[in-house]
Amino acid sequence: MSERIREKLSILADAAKYDVSCASSGSKRKNENKGLGNASNGICHAYTEDGRCVSLLKILLTNHCIFDCAYCVSRKSNDIKRAAFTVQEVVDLTINFYRRNYIEGLFLSSGIFKNADYTMERLVRIAKKLRTEENFHGYIHLKAIPGASDELLQEAGLYADRLSVNVEMPTEQSLKLLAPDKNRKDMIAPMKYLKGAIIANKEEKKLFKKAPLFAPAGQSTQMVVGATPENDLQVLWMADQFYKKMNMRRVYYSGYVPISNDNRLPAIGTPVPMIRENRLYQADWLLRFYGFSLQEIVDQENPVLDMDIDPKLAWALRNPQLFPVDINYADLYMIMRVPGIGVGTAKKIVAARKHQQLTADHVKKLGIAWNRARHFITCAADAYTHKDLLPLQLKSLIMQQTTSKYQPNFSPQLKLF
Ligand code: SF4
Repeated sequence: MSERIREKLSILADAAKYDVSCASSGSKRKNENKGLGNASNGICHAYTEDGRCVSLLKILLTNHCIFDCAYCVSRKSNDIKRAAFTVQEVVDLTINFYRRNYIEGLFLSSGIFKNADYTMERLVRIAKKLRTEENFHGYIHLKAIPGASDELLQEAGLYADRLSVNVEMPTEQSLKLLAPDKNRKDMIAPMKYLKGAIIANKEEKKLFKKAPLFAPAGQSTQMVVGATPENDLQVLWMADQFYKKMNMRRVYYSGYVPISNDNRLPAIGTPVPMIRENRLYQADWLLRFYGFSLQEIVDQENPVLDMDIDPKLAWALRNPQLFPVDINYADLYMIMRVPGIGVGTAKKIVAARKHQQLTADHVKKLGIAWNRARHFITCAADAYTHKDLLPLQLKSLIMQQTTSKYQPNFSPQLKLF
């Protein structure tokens, strides 16, 4: 690798690290004709402790940008070294790293060169070359540039596994404040287009097996949290809307990393709200997989997630009248709602109780987090011991018995102003 490419790589990989929306789950792309890679299986996802995915070559095409979003290192007013890859350089790097087993795929985002289409066209060319000239079947996640034309989005979907348009800020008001060159409409339009094209492609695949795939891993978006004063209710409300109205596969929450002395933003040195980011992911999980409604997790009376405990436990403590749950008779839906019992374990419990009455020893062996779940369940031959504890007493008891891996960098919702 030449010195120049090495330098570009260090600049453009560093600039890309602020984008968390890169998980490579859910793709169905198959390797045919002895091509390179296979996104459908064998791909392993490496995540750093704070949840960021590291298994892809994650770079920007360029960190030049005509826009000036206050929260972004690539903003035009920032005095930093700039660089840009050519289309061929990104293709060569991807293939090189793939062959050396460093990566399973490519996550490609970009600053905006001249305008949305000019930039998007280059991103599409890279994906197209990888698929059609290099026969690359690894995972490709492309950032869709807000304002790009439908034609380019359509083409992008033919080569990329996943496309994402970052919504950036949880409210339009904050977007206007921090990213005056952007507008919400330019972000929503490509999301709507992608939603329609993904649904149409699924229908087409039902009729014609050979129809080409279109963004088989769906679309995702990212929200920066902690840069502006929105509470968790506002953040999760926005995510809930995306899941319901845009068929979004994932919403990523990125705790703001202070990079600027701009007085609209938290000062440099303010801790990244890692624990809040984690709680948002847990709440998001409840929305997507556990059948919780948004109002059960956060509402006008409780607009902020509890930072001490996870949102499912917080919900259980707010609803003591629903507990204890009898493991031998409750329905699956209610067992899944017990703190310390996941979807998989709940299913195992329902299957196992067909054969015998389950005791505490049985359910412990099925993999429940006993230190939490035991306060909310009854089993055969086990007395329920905590019926007299008030929710706050129970919370404190549970907290004494557990330690959070996030405790050392505990950082609550920011007080901005
Ligand atoms: S448009 Fe994107 S790359 Fe450009 S400044 Fe805004 S967030 Fe950064």
